[in-house]
Amino acid sequence: MSDIKFGEQYGFNTRAVHTGNDIDKESGAIRRPIIMANSYALPYDPTDVNWSEAGKALYTRNGGANQGYLQEKLAALEGSEDCVVLATGVAALSAIFFTFLESGDHVVCSNISYIAVYRLLTELLPRKYNIKATLVDTSDLEAIKAAIRPNTKLIHIETPGNPTLNISDIKEIAKITHKHGALLSVDNTFASLYNQRPTSLGADFSVESLTKYINGHGDAMGGAILGSKVLIDKIRAEAMINIGGAISPFNAWLIMRGTVTLPLRMRQHNENGLKVAQYLEALPCVSFVAYPGLESNPQYETAKKQMINGFSGVLSFGLKTDFSTHNTFVSHLKVITSAVSLGHDESLIVFLGPEDERQYLYPEAFHNGFFRFSVGIEDAEDIIEDIRQALTTVGLLGPLLL
Ligand SMILES: *Cc1c(COP(=O)(O)O)cnc(C)c1O
Repeated sequence: MSDIKFGEQYGFNTRAVHTGNDIDKESGAIRRPIIMANSYALPYDPTDVNWSEAGKALYTRNGGANQGYLQEKLAALEGSEDCVVLATGVAALSAIFFTFLESGDHVVCSNISYIAVYRLLTELLPRKYNIKATLVDTSDLEAIKAAIRPNTKLIHIETPGNPTLNISDIKEIAKITHKHGALLSVDNTFASLYNQRPTSLGADFSVESLTKYINGHGDAMGGAILGSKVLIDKIRAEAMINIGGAISPFNAWLIMRGTVTLPLRMRQHNENGLKVAQYLEALPCVSFVAYPGLESNPQYETAKKQMINGFSGVLSFGLKTDFSTHNTFVSHLKVITSAVSLGHDESLIVFLGPEDERQYLYPEAFHNGFFRFSVGIEDAEDIIEDIRQALTTVGLLGPLLL
């Protein structure tokens, strides 16, 4: 990536604005256009064109213009050699599994992770391809070492993990992984590459659901894998072209536009996340708050070491009440929206637990039902006031309890 126009000699904010953009040669526009073409003109004699080749202007599933611009920018922001963008975060995660795992291989993964990863590793991959996984608490380095087998090819972690915010030490896990000759992939979605850059800490892959913070506006889905050119090329050749989870040029363009304000938005998410976590922690009706930026969090030191700019806007918390009061509380919120997803501009809350079978596997981590709360970039005072008035309405907070 050293030959790109806005590379690492520039600061993060400058790269967020400029990398991947340029003057459109045909129109003179100072914004590159959306190129909604499926195909690109072939040379006079196409005999030598390889239909399964990545990167050449051929067909959008092999690599279109807008996805190329986005890849250039994301790699420059992470500081990685290369990047491939795909249709969703899950397309990116499964692209890693399908590219680097063979029948008979073994994976070590965080015991609580994104639900599609859990399904892929515990149901689909073992049943269809005899790929086995051992799920461990990856904040425990000894547990990882104990889970590694001779046929372990991949260690996959999420830090902070979805939805419990568990923190794992990327640098230490990279050492363990490489000593064994395996690959380490880190799902970096909760932190985003503004707050944490796993490839700079030794991970082979950093995975981002672009749907979340990177696009940030809740209006387009995408996924990215960042890493070395050799490994990313293999993913392009095996997974993007032949499994086919290519991103649409329009979504790549929308996400490119979202990334311009990524550092501004993340600074506000970091600030609001901490304020809301501190507010919740002080309430008598709150049973726990999991937020890596709270000094009371037992994983604070590890989080601080690897989350360079802040702790992001996602937290989880529990209320000392029954299931139905959780739903009533949510129904009284006016600023905060009840919906899945996270990392949008607006605050989103979701009640987790009753429907999740992991509630029974990991009762302690699941706290008998809890909220995942993605704190948005509204005014922190309005978010806090919204929580206060809804808790008061359901009787969990009274004037005397304040
Ligand atoms: C949302 C999410 C994903 C999946 O991303 P999609 O874009 O929805 O496919 C993966 N990992 C984490 C941690 C997520 O939060």
